[in-house]
Amino acid sequence: MNLKTKYSQFIKSEAKRLGFLSCGISKAEFLEEEAPRLEKWLNNNMHGEMQYMENHFDKRLDPTKLVDDSKSVISLLLNYFPSENQKDPDAPKISKYAYGTDYHFVIKDKLKELLQSIQEEIGEVHGRAFVDSAPVLDKAWAAKSGLGWIGKNSNLLTQQVGSFYFIAELIIDLDLAYDMPVTDHCGTCTACIDACPTQAIVEPYVVDGSKCISYFTIELKAEIPNSYSGQFDDWMFGCDVCQDVCPWNRFSKPHNEPLFNPKPELLTMSKKEWQEITQEVFSRVFQKSAVKRTKFSGLKRNIKFLED
Ligand code: SF4
Ligand code: SF4
Repeated sequence: MNLKTKYSQFIKSEAKRLGFLSCGISKAEFLEEEAPRLEKWLNNNMHGEMQYMENHFDKRLDPTKLVDDSKSVISLLLNYFPSENQKDPDAPKISKYAYGTDYHFVIKDKLKELLQSIQEEIGEVHGRAFVDSAPVLDKAWAAKSGLGWIGKNSNLLTQQVGSFYFIAELIIDLDLAYDMPVTDHCGTCTACIDACPTQAIVEPYVVDGSKCISYFTIELKAEIPNSYSGQFDDWMFGCDVCQDVCPWNRFSKPHNEPLFNPKPELLTMSKKEWQEITQEVFSRVFQKSAVKRTKFSGLKRNIKFLED
């Protein structure tokens, strides 16, 4: 076995030990196939008010411009599929990824540990960790590394566990053995396109971010346009519809990360309790949660929008 293969195998087994679902590795190089796609998406204003998407165009497509001397992109998946959902079927809904502790913290710690193990085993290796950070096209890297394919709903999908997981990367200055992409298994299915409450999947594989409920409920700072009134299918933070209907998510299995478990109240609060939520309850239920991103006022706005 050559050294690159040996190191890659070591990194993958360490990733498993740290609780990642899977790990795939690609050569750090310009993402040629993604460049025209990203350009078209931005030119069509599908990023709405997410101005940060326009920044660092070159860096986003080329990890060697992002991390000095980078040689490899290590992509990692971490499962967040919960064992339980919100109890009241009429309660405003929260995307499953935001049930527990903010994933940025949980994953950053794991990535740091992975880099440390690599340094202890292999020697002087430098790198940077990325978790859902704007400069890295994480789905494209994960697909290039054979962890899944990008489905018509624009999520990364796997035949084994569907799509309810976070994607993170470690970009390092060490040459490794690289993985091959897998084939697309969406076939003739259009379940996600048909089910999207706001018709945000404008064509297969293209999500207009500026029409997506996740964008309206999390990213948009201004008022939600009235033209979308009654279309949010009770989502108050994010939206899981295009994942919930995806047949590959039949194979999702509950995560085993205690930090991703929600505060019990999050699951038991009724529609009325959500409508009457106070700052105090918000701070308690969403302590350390990614939902804090909207702040209390943002979540109130979203809940009120569902009532109008
Ligand atoms: S997250 Fe919801 S609104 Fe956005 S594309 Fe998927 S189904 Fe549509
Ligand atoms: S719902 Fe169907 S078309 Fe959409 S991502 Fe899943 S398999 Fe692909």
